[in-house]
Amino acid sequence: MTRLIFLGPPGAGKGTQAQILSQSHNIPHISTGDILRTAVEQQTDLGNQAKEYMDRGELVPDSLLLDLIRDRLTQPDATQSGWILDGFPRNVAQAEFLDHLLDDIQQECKSAISLEVPDKQLIDRLHGRGRSDDGDETIARRLRVYYAQTMPVIDYYRERGRLIAINGNSPIEAVAAILNKVVTS
Ligand code: AMP
Repeated sequence: MTRLIFLGPPGAGKGTQAQILSQSHNIPHISTGDILRTAVEQQTDLGNQAKEYMDRGELVPDSLLLDLIRDRLTQPDATQSGWILDGFPRNVAQAEFLDHLLDDIQQECKSAISLEVPDKQLIDRLHGRGRSDDGDETIARRLRVYYAQTMPVIDYYRERGRLIAINGNSPIEAVAAILNKVVTS
């Protein structure tokens, strides 16, 4: 059973790589960013509460995400085929929550993959993407939020011997090939 956490700064290619791996190995891809964007589009309660944070490039409050993650990881597709978690955990409190949750629902996730890409490349990629939260100021804020809140999550998994760091500064196919090896090894 494959269960993987994808970590990395905005623009590192987490979503792209998670999607490729999800399709080639038939593993559900769970992206909290995608779930939140859909909720914003559909103007659900969750979406309406999350929108202002997302527009500013800040993290939405943990309280909006915890039940959602529990529900999603216990859906039949995830219990049967595993999952690739993309965009969660984004801070240490979420990482601790996730470890407790996995214990509780008796799922094991041994590895967190960190896609490493230098800042300069990230900024170029984000400018090229044209998402509504990819304006200059928001990009800068999302990178700041990443370094302040999400980098400690990388340390969290490294300290527990669960981190696999991968150079994400290569063509999409090259990174995908490396990830494929990680999953099949
Ligand atoms: P992403 O598509 O992963 O870059 O996420 C887009 C936006 O959704 C982020 O900038 C946050 O505002 C919000 N978001 C996604 N995942 C999380 C999370 N785990 N915790 C808090 N906010 C999140």
